[in-house]
Amino acid sequence: MPDIAVYPGSFDPITNGHLDLIQRASKIFDRIIVAVATNAFKQSLFTIEERLEMVRISLEGYPQVSIDTFDGLLVKYAKGKNARAILRGLRAVTDFEYEFQLAMMNRRLEPGVETVFLMTGLRWVFLSSSILKEAAIHGGDIEGMVPEIVHRKLKEKFGLT
Ligand code: ADP
Repeated sequence: MPDIAVYPGSFDPITNGHLDLIQRASKIFDRIIVAVATNAFKQSLFTIEERLEMVRISLEGYPQVSIDTFDGLLVKYAKGKNARAILRGLRAVTDFEYEFQLAMMNRRLEPGVETVFLMTGLRWVFLSSSILKEAAIHGGDIEGMVPEIVHRKLKEKFGLT
C-alpha cells in the first residue's frame, strides 16, 4: 500500500510556503493529495475554481501530487482516500495552538489517521495567504513569494500593473 498524505487547506491562494512544504513532504510520502477546502463557512478571495486552477498550474511537474477538493469532515475524507496522514505546516509559535487543537480533535474523531507537521522553510516563515493578500490589496510587491500564476491573478484581481 502506498503511503498517502492529504494536505488540506484553503490555498486562497497557494504560496511558495505551501509549495516548499509539498516538495519536502514528497520525499517522505509516496503520494500527496492537495485537498482544497470548498469552505462553506469561510470567506475566500478566490473562488474554488480559481484556487484549484492556481494549485494545478503551480504543481505541474510533481508526479506524486494529485489535486482534489473536499468539504465536510476532513478525517472522513482522508480515510476515504486511504491516507495514513494529514499533513500540516507549522510556522512561528502562533500556529501551534490552533494546529494542536485541530490535530487532537481529528485524532479523537479518527485515531487511524495521524497528523504530521512539517516546519516551514525558513524563507517562508512569515508568509501566509492572508498576509500576502493584505500586501497585494495595498499594492505591495509580492513577487518571489508566490508562483507566477498567482502573481498574475493577484495583479488582475487588484488591478495592479
Ligand atoms: P487553512 O485555512 O486550513 O489554514 P491554509 O491554506 O492557510 O489553509 O494553510 C494550509 C496549511 O499550510 C496549514 O497547515 C498552514 O499552516 C500551512 N502553511 C501555510 N503557509 C505556510 C508557510 N509559509 N510555510 C509552511 N506552512 C504553511
